Amino acid sequence: MPFLSTDRTERCPYNPSHVVLRSKLLQHLTRCARQHPDAGLQVCPFNAAHHVSEVTFRHHKLNCPDRETIEREKYQITVGVFRDGGAGVVSLVM
Ligand SMILES: [Zn+2]
Ligand SMILES: [Zn+2]
Repeated sequence: MPFLSTDRTERCPYNPSHVVLRSKLLQHLTRCARQHPDAGLQVCPFNAAHHVSEVTFRHHKLNCPDRETIEREKYQITVGVFRDGGAGVVSLVM
């Protein structure tokens, strides 16, 4: 079994020659962001391991693969409020 199979690695957005194990990505990005303060990359609000350029940041936020998970959690919170409140009023948790 190869140690660096492509499905377990990510390319560093700060330096394409950095190929990082997914399990070490967050750690690596934190360090690389500090070393490249002028790179102008934004950190995704849904996943701290997503560092994207300002140009694509808006698009990424709308299409982030982790966005759905967060939205679903919000929905579950809303349902919880509805049940406990018992007043028949659904308040949207934003
Ligand atoms: Zn890097
Ligand atoms: Zn993201």
